[in-house]
Amino acid sequence: MTDRDYYEILGVPREADAAAIKSAFRKLAMKLHPDQNPGCKVSEEKFKELGEAYAVLSDPQKRAAYDQYGKAAFQGGGGGGPGFGPGAAGFSDFSDLFNEIFGGGFEDMFARGSRGPRNGPQRGADLRYDVEITLEQAFRGMEREIVAPRAQACEPCSGTGSEGGAPMETCRTCQGAGQVRASQGMFRIVRTCPGCHGRGQSIKTPCGACGGRGLTQSERKLAVKIPAGVEDGTRIRLAGEGDSGLRSGPPGDLYLFLSVKPHTLFERDGPDLYCRAPAPMCKAALGGEMEIPTIDGERTKITIPAGAQTGRRFRIKGKGMTHLRGKDRGDLHVEIFVETPVNLSAKQRKLLEEFATDCGEEAHPQTQGFFDSVKKFFDAGGDAPSR
Ligand SMILES: [Zn+2]
Ligand SMILES: [Zn+2]
Repeated sequence: MTDRDYYEILGVPREADAAAIKSAFRKLAMKLHPDQNPGCKVSEEKFKELGEAYAVLSDPQKRAAYDQYGKAAFQGGGGGGPGFGPGAAGFSDFSDLFNEIFGGGFEDMFARGSRGPRNGPQRGADLRYDVEITLEQAFRGMEREIVAPRAQACEPCSGTGSEGGAPMETCRTCQGAGQVRASQGMFRIVRTCPGCHGRGQSIKTPCGACGGRGLTQSERKLAVKIPAGVEDGTRIRLAGEGDSGLRSGPPGDLYLFLSVKPHTLFERDGPDLYCRAPAPMCKAALGGEMEIPTIDGERTKITIPAGAQTGRRFRIKGKGMTHLRGKDRGDLHVEIFVETPVNLSAKQRKLLEEFATDCGEEAHPQTQGFFDSVKKFFDAGGDAPSR
């Protein structure tokens, strides 16, 4: 994996859109392509770097993970790390785009020179599993059972793809080289042999159970622990729970992509929660206590001062979300809006009318100020009021 910043490699700003990234990639790929620079190690390295950067930035999920965690998002704890080997998700996207530009031969370019026939162990593919949880579940954390599909080594052929596990024979198409040569337009293309898929050897009789793939699909139940405080977009890596590898290769990883459903009462910003609460007009005028629900299912109180207006904010410390690391909780921010009473009875209406008659200017200073401004506006002949 390269040390350089992916945006820097592509020469685009961090806020570049998908089209700009694609176009930057296209230009650089044309320039750095190994067939344009035969034998030049520097451009070959740069070309690989470019592929790595593009595989991440062209995938919205990976790009978001990169923006948030940097390359740590793609570095596994043990050996290899997911992401960029053949069979990883980003590789095929890159390959598609490459083929669109250069007309085929992408995978071969990486195989060429580095290895001969791809006959050795191959790491299993990484899998992605999307999980949607509620804000309450994100607050408490939870254990969840998921049923994840995965490809496993076929039992009848022990993962060899050959009927009864019989040994393979040298491929007749490529004579065991794993590659065939062809030229296409301005490029010399070395293709993976279609007869043996680059292995140099082919199966005499494909295994009936797996069709010669060496893998069969199965489902497995996994108990997944989702920690308290997770955010929308969090990825959880389950090492070794992806597809099985081929020819004794290590298994891939399973990635859980968490999304948190929007909540009816609370909006979240990191560890803090925000909520808008209605305050009855009389309570806002007279002052008093008001109950506010909290994410933990409890209630808390705020004290409204007499004469509180719409938009008044209150901060309740420690009633927000749990932190992913650490015990403290964020804060709950409450913004009140004054609710005008409706559906008045005859008696209520009468009381309110009496109240209105009794109300002087000093009870509504903002209204008074507003009409003063309007008066100045007309007195000045319609121009803006002078201050
Ligand atoms: Zn072959
Ligand atoms: Zn089989």
